[in-house]
Amino acid sequence: MQTPSHVLRVTGWHKTYQTIAYAQGIYLYDTQGKRYLDAIAGTHVNTIGHGCAEIGAAMAEQAQKISFVHKAVFTSEPQEELARVIAQLAPSGMQRVCFATGGSTANEIALQMAQYYQMEKGRTRASKVISRWHSYHGRTIATLSLSGNISVRRNLPLSHLDFPHIPAPTCYHCPFGKQYPDCGLACADALATTIEQEGPESVAAFIAEPIIGGSGSAVVPPLGYYERIREICDRYDILFIAEEIITGFGRTGKNFGSDHWNAIPDIITAGKGLSSGYAPIAAIIVHDKVADTLINGKRQGIPTFTTYSGHPISCAAAVAVQNYVKQHDLVARGALIGEYLKNALLELAQQEPLIGEVRGKGMMLGVEFVQDRATHQPFPRTTKLVGTIVSTALRHGLVLRGQVGTGTTPDGDHILISPPLVITEAECDELVGLLATTIAEVKLSLKINV
Ligand code: PMP
Repeated sequence: MQTPSHVLRVTGWHKTYQTIAYAQGIYLYDTQGKRYLDAIAGTHVNTIGHGCAEIGAAMAEQAQKISFVHKAVFTSEPQEELARVIAQLAPSGMQRVCFATGGSTANEIALQMAQYYQMEKGRTRASKVISRWHSYHGRTIATLSLSGNISVRRNLPLSHLDFPHIPAPTCYHCPFGKQYPDCGLACADALATTIEQEGPESVAAFIAEPIIGGSGSAVVPPLGYYERIREICDRYDILFIAEEIITGFGRTGKNFGSDHWNAIPDIITAGKGLSSGYAPIAAIIVHDKVADTLINGKRQGIPTFTTYSGHPISCAAAVAVQNYVKQHDLVARGALIGEYLKNALLELAQQEPLIGEVRGKGMMLGVEFVQDRATHQPFPRTTKLVGTIVSTALRHGLVLRGQVGTGTTPDGDHILISPPLVITEAECDELVGLLATTIAEVKLSLKINV
């Protein structure tokens, strides 16, 4: 008989949850002894694998030195060291870093920073931040307002802040019904159109995930997209915020997702891989152009921090994680093993017509399920396809997370596969084998005949 839980299960009132007792590498073990292959690294967080003793040791050592100091009064050694480490990894000219407790708070800080930047430039009405449909930026009211995930937005009772959205660069379901390159990058030019419609003086920034994460399951924009975006942002002097909460710190085979394009952002927000989930922390990495304007401006600082941002123990964990990533060359390894996993998924797709597309970079790979491969026709939401795939996979000991929507409709089913960068080839084979078993079983249970 289990003792009744006092946890209010905000993620699903009536769901039952297994208790995970411990984890090692890419595997989780519950209290019943069942093993799970974590193909999503706890939602795209863990990069170095579970159970790295040196990270726990670094956190314990820091806890014994100082548990907490407030950043408005003091700094700490791990915060200084972490900012140094990040500045070395960041794109050229991005040398200033501040910290947040997670993705939502990092994005909040970034958008307020953009507004303060515009005020310093004398553009006192520039408060809007433009984002894209098919995006997710967090759970605070401002970051939900930025988020363009249709299903998330439709389920909310609240009214949104006035942040406009432009279509996402989803070639597989092009919102303009066009094909690259004949489209002329209409999805990027939509930014200029929207700035003109809103009034250039009212816009502070544009925010986008370099590779679309949870909402799109690893949608990679077409060649030249971010270069065009950069050019439009420069034309109107609005800031380009690269939202790298998932793509930052090695997930896509480079330090940052932005490194895949020739378009340096003005601000990067990056989180999950920073501490690989060993402690809550995210970073806001700021270009000198923005930092210098703020530092030389009218204000003595900008009050965008929260109490625990830059927490010394989280910073110590993140320094130890980034040292581990460097010592084991995990970014390059993630790129290589990601290719292996992508090829294995492409082979599965050749045999399995339910899979319409395999996409992504590095260890951020998407698999989209369709009714018709030729037309990319999705299943309606009523089929509950991806939900059934996720629950069936869990029974088989494979942890997946389902995502829905094409960017223009709530229909559409896909999964974002993002295991830790330390996964081996044999473990990739096991992952793909479990996925194949799962798909076969789901097709039978839902009577899908493709
Ligand atoms: N942006 C992206 C792309 C995310 O995936 C997430 C979390 N899933 C967030 C922002 C929000 O981060 P957090 O939940 O840490 O606030």
